[in-house]
Amino acid sequence: MTEDAVTASWGHASPCTWSILVHGGAGDIAAERLPLHIAGCERAAAAGAAVLAAGGSALDAVQRAVEVLEDDPSFNAGTGACLNADGAIELDASIMDGTTLTAGGVCALPPFKNPIAIARRVMIRSRHVLLAGDGAVRFALAEGFERADPESMITELARTRLEAVRAKDAAENKSGGTVGAVARDASGRVAAATSTGGMVNKLAGRVGDSPIVGAGTYADDTTAACSTTGHGEAMMRVCLAKTTTDATRTTSAETAARVSLAMMHERTQGVGGAIIAGRDGSLGLARTTRTMSWAAVTNDGTRASGA
Ligand code: ASP
Repeated sequence: MTEDAVTASWGHASPCTWSILVHGGAGDIAAERLPLHIAGCERAAAAGAAVLAAGGSALDAVQRAVEVLEDDPSFNAGTGACLNADGAIELDASIMDGTTLTAGGVCALPPFKNPIAIARRVMIRSRHVLLAGDGAVRFALAEGFERADPESMITELARTRLEAVRAKDAAENKSGGTVGAVARDASGRVAAATSTGGMVNKLAGRVGDSPIVGAGTYADDTTAACSTTGHGEAMMRVCLAKTTTDATRTTSAETAARVSLAMMHERTQGVGGAIIAGRDGSLGLARTTRTMSWAAVTNDGTRASGA
C-alpha cells in the first residue's frame, strides 16, 4: 500500500504530560475562509488546554473544545450545521472515555445548541451508547437540555450551500466543518469527541460516522484517542477511528493517521482526515483532502495550527 493519497500530515512525536489537538473538518475550504477556520480551532484548543492545565480530565477538555467549535457558526456542527434535503438540521455527535471505554452518542438529532453535551450525558446517565432522533430528543429534554429555535442555528451560508448542492443533485460535504478533539491529561487518560451536521443535502435520517464509536470517535488508554472527518460512508466501512488507534501500537500517531487514511482510500476511494492523541501525549494528524483546519496545544509549550 502506498501513502500517495495522503496530502498532508503533522506530528508532535515527543511524549507530553498533557496535550490536546482539535480539527475543524476535512474538505476543500475556500482560501478566504481558511483563516476563520484556523482561528476557530485555535480558540477551541486553547479552551481545552485551559481545562488540562488546571488539572482537568481529557474528557472535560475534549467536550469543552468541541462546544467552542459547535458555537462557532463557521463550522458544520451545532450552530452553522449544514442542512439536509428537507432544509433541516440533523446533528450527529459522540464522545469516548479511554479509561473506562464508555461512550455516548446522539444521531439524527434536531436542533440543540451543544449535541456533544447531550452525547456526554448519554454516556454517563443512560444504559446505552447511542440515541437517535425522537428518542434522543426525549432523553435530552428529560436531562434538562433545551431545544433550540432552528432559525437561531441555521446560517445564510448553510442555506446557500444547500441550494448549490441541490442544483448538482448531489449530497456532499466539500466545505468541511465537522469538528473534533482528542486529548491526553496529566493522569494519562485519553478521550475523543466529534460533532457534525453531516453532509449537505443528505436524506433525512442519514447518519454518518461521527456518532459511531470506532468510526468517527475512539479512545483507549492503552493505545490512543482519535477523531475522524470526511466521507462518513467510507469511514464507517473501515472503522477508521479504531483502525487508527490500533495502528499506534506499532507506530507513531502521525504515521498511524497516514497509514489508516491511505488504507481507506485504497479500499473505498473515500477521503478524509484523522487527529490522534497517543497514550504518551504525542500527537499526530493526516488528511487525504485538500484542507483540514486544526490546532494543538501541549504542556511543553507547543502551540501549532494549520489547515
Ligand atoms: N464525516 C462526516 C459525515 O459523513 C462529515 C465530515 O466529516 O465532513 O457525516
